[in-house]
Amino acid sequence: MPSSTDANVVGSGPNGLAAAVTLARAGYTVRVYEKADTIGGSARTLPLTQPGFQHDLGSAVHPLALASPFFRAFGLASRIDLRVPDISFAHPIVAGRSAVAYRSLDHTASQLGRDGRAYRRLLAPLVAKALEIARFTGSPLLQVPETPGVAAQFGLRSLQQGTHLWNAGFRDEDARALLSGAAAHTILPLPSLASAAAGLALTTHAHAGGWPVPVGGSQAIIDALVADLEAHGGTVITGVDVHSLDDLPASEITILDVTPRAFVALAGDRMPPAYRRSLARFRYGNGVAKVDFALRAPVPWTDPVLRNAPTLHLGGTRAQIARAEDAVARGGHPASPYVLVSQPSVLDSTRAPAGAATLWAYTHVPAGSTLDRREAVVTAIERFAPGFRDVIIDAASLSAAQVEASNPNLIGGDIGAGAPTLSQLIARPRLARDPWRTPLDGVYLCGASTAPGPGVHGLSGWYAAQSALRTHAQLGSPDLLPREK
Ligand SMILES: Cc1cc2nc3c(=O)[nH]c(=O)nc-3n(C[C@H](O)[C@H](O)[C@H](O)COP(=O)(O)OP(=O)(O)OC[C@H]3O[C@@H](n4cnc5c(N)ncnc54)[C@H](O)[C@@H]3O)c2cc1C
Repeated sequence: MPSSTDANVVGSGPNGLAAAVTLARAGYTVRVYEKADTIGGSARTLPLTQPGFQHDLGSAVHPLALASPFFRAFGLASRIDLRVPDISFAHPIVAGRSAVAYRSLDHTASQLGRDGRAYRRLLAPLVAKALEIARFTGSPLLQVPETPGVAAQFGLRSLQQGTHLWNAGFRDEDARALLSGAAAHTILPLPSLASAAAGLALTTHAHAGGWPVPVGGSQAIIDALVADLEAHGGTVITGVDVHSLDDLPASEITILDVTPRAFVALAGDRMPPAYRRSLARFRYGNGVAKVDFALRAPVPWTDPVLRNAPTLHLGGTRAQIARAEDAVARGGHPASPYVLVSQPSVLDSTRAPAGAATLWAYTHVPAGSTLDRREAVVTAIERFAPGFRDVIIDAASLSAAQVEASNPNLIGGDIGAGAPTLSQLIARPRLARDPWRTPLDGVYLCGASTAPGPGVHGLSGWYAAQSALRTHAQLGSPDLLPREK
């Protein structure tokens, strides 16, 4: 058991809290400092519009809540109500006709006509090894994979989907659109290796554990982490914007859930110049403009199957989505954008008054864009749901610049806190076997800018805490499962 038992964590996102829980379970007295007045970073759920409507400020759908090795160690699925839908995501191609990624791979393939076999061939070996894939994609890519055969299968498939060979084997639009809709989450040009890898990982989870929605919103995940932290003597102090490491109380361990850019500012002269230069090379990606809607009734989708889909990818065919993402990469705001939609009310009645619904949507924009994209999002939804405009009671719209104002980790509105390019997946935030450790004694970096990257999985915080425990207390990861009362 450590003798000097204080630890600081800056930032209460899922990674900061995963680090805090791990340190508290190892016997440290942990204080988490959070700039905002509310806990949870990009996994907060807030009443952004009318009374009775609860909106996810950031994450809405959580493929990694079930697959993340951290959340499995933490027993998240037994602590909160995670609803797994039959439809992981849907993709309207034209009004009235959609491609659907059901949780069942067989059912999905059976709906894809003459492309069903090719779709199954691409995904079945990955779906069978979904947890190994979660472990492999959830580790720094410099580490030798535990299951090299699975990594090789995943790599080969990413190569095929990440180049202009991506249409090979597919004759119709539906399977292509499903794969591109998932790959486009990365806000990278399509096709590209990194977007294909991320898209295949997401699609694998879609057909394995599914894409669950937490009852009560992403905040339920945060609340479970905070409850465990507090049960083990830790606290979260909100409304504290930490400007310098010198402002923090003396402690053996400090873990920072911030971007490399913020770390440079927090460390000031304490940071060795070579390390500072390597962090300065880290690149932030393009951003999102977000719109949350309070609706008097569910969306009047023309295709009835969409009424049961918690997650939708709008933007039309693979070629149309690639054009839209290319326009963003070149600094534009496409007239027909790719739009990610979540309708949590399909599974969770706590988000809106009876009969009403919430809708969450965002679209990609150039970094730092100040444009309000509400109208573009409404138009994109109206294309597949004429009359949508008439069910809107209220909306809260954020430009990319305002997204950054809501959370300093989202530089320029980049929801990944750093472009998820191939080089930045390998070196995140720099090339190192232990990317969480820094040259500053006792100071560790976590967060989406640090391996393994964006998403609500808590892995970066868990790994940073494990690195600190190995170094300062010669301890492994403590048991994190819920304790019997
Ligand atoms: C619009 C949007 C949609 C998303 N959708 C999904 C999704 O559906 N599924 C999914 O898995 N992921 C999604 N994500 C990504 C996911 O939410 C993030 O990758 C994840 O929250 C990162 O967690 P984190 O702990 O690294 O940082 P964050 O959640 O960004 O939290 C960092 C926290 O640190 C605080 N902080 C930073 N600097 C300081 C300081 N100096 N002093 C005090 N506090 C500080 C910030 O205020 C913030 O609260 C989405 C993100 C956004 C923004």
